[in-house]
Amino acid sequence: MGDEIKEHIQTVKQNVEAACRRAGRNPDEVTLIAVSKTKPLKMLLEAYEAGARDFGENKVQEILEKAPKMPPDARFHMIGHLQRNKVRQVIPHVRMIHSVDSVRLAEMIQQEALRIGKTVDILLEVNVAKEESKFGMFPEQVMENLDQIRLFPNIRICGLMTIAPFVENSEENRPIFQKLYQLYVDIKKKNIDNVTMNVLSMGMTGDYQVAVEEGATMIRVGTGIFGVR
Ligand SMILES: *Cc1c(COP(=O)(O)O)cnc(C)c1O
Repeated sequence: MGDEIKEHIQTVKQNVEAACRRAGRNPDEVTLIAVSKTKPLKMLLEAYEAGARDFGENKVQEILEKAPKMPPDARFHMIGHLQRNKVRQVIPHVRMIHSVDSVRLAEMIQQEALRIGKTVDILLEVNVAKEESKFGMFPEQVMENLDQIRLFPNIRICGLMTIAPFVENSEENRPIFQKLYQLYVDIKKKNIDNVTMNVLSMGMTGDYQVAVEEGATMIRVGTGIFGVR
């Protein structure tokens, strides 16, 4: 295996820098989340050694297993669909929940966050492409949901997230990223109480360079760092 993970992280960072140059952006605005789902702790530690601090997982069970065994400055991001009955277990271990797709889920997060005296950073997951198979609210539902979720005092709405469709050519997803960016900017401009739009989580192994060109501030890269699952 050698230094494969380290090399992959360096390659992703170089690609992010190149995409930022093309778009006239500062690479410091883009956080790389190493999506470590299904991968053993050993590989996460290798990524940590190579400088990774943000890890993405889509199953509560895996976060519960891995987070306590990582160095204390490793941050875990919940990026998968979150069931309401798993909220209590997961919130002590996560830096951010990217996958808030309903007021009902936010309500549960509020309840549990209050119980442990914490404020939880969340993103609203938007199903921009309106794929049947995907979770997330439709773009036209975002404002209505945001207006309710922002009233929860133990939740901080930090931005938006989307999972773009699986495509052969990443250019096909450019309009998806543009649409989410536009929504993000529109909400930001409104200066709504208890809403700070400064995170735009979009782009995966196949399309993160396009996502960065279109304004992503967090990219979620799994295969491109840890290899195929
Ligand atoms: C698995 C996953 C990723 C990473 O996908 P890759 O194609 O392996 O980079 C990103 N985001 C979410 C929500 C995922 O579930």
